[in-house]
Amino acid sequence: MELICTKCRHLADAEQCSYCGSCETKVPEAEDPCFLVTVNGPEAAVLSERLARNGIPFRKQLVHMGKITVTYAFYVPYGKLEDALSENEKMWGDEQAMGNDNTVFSAEEIDEMDIGNLDSMDLEELKAYKAKIISTLKEIKFQEQRWKERTNLLLDMREEAENLIEDLS
Ligand SMILES: [Zn+2]
Repeated sequence: MELICTKCRHLADAEQCSYCGSCETKVPEAEDPCFLVTVNGPEAAVLSERLARNGIPFRKQLVHMGKITVTYAFYVPYGKLEDALSENEKMWGDEQAMGNDNTVFSAEEIDEMDIGNLDSMDLEELKAYKAKIISTLKEIKFQEQRWKERTNLLLDMREEAENLIEDLS
């Protein structure tokens, strides 16, 4: 039976939590906050947005603040854990998502697009095509956001490296 540790909020498969060693485990209820994942700053921003976009309530807790990286733990209600895990997985799969997800156009499909394609479509096809364009645009915007976060992290890293080099030489 699946249990939840009331101390650290990790799921446990035995009475004793294998994560923190506590024996205060219980059968989880839908509203019980449950550990989802720990992620660094840039991914935390993206994950927050993804969860919010999908109506998944979450709590973000600072677990580590390094010189450059900030790490957060995410907690979601047990009843939403599966959805949240799938959002987390999709986030890490973003680079491939453009090709695998049939709700968005692949890069190749976009390269081969031609306005003339629209002429042969009926109303239903046009509507579906337009919907796919809109979700592709959203996905692109989302990836832009992610790369923006990564750019900021890289700029921080570069600055920090420059400072360290200066100190050492
Ligand atoms: Zn525990």
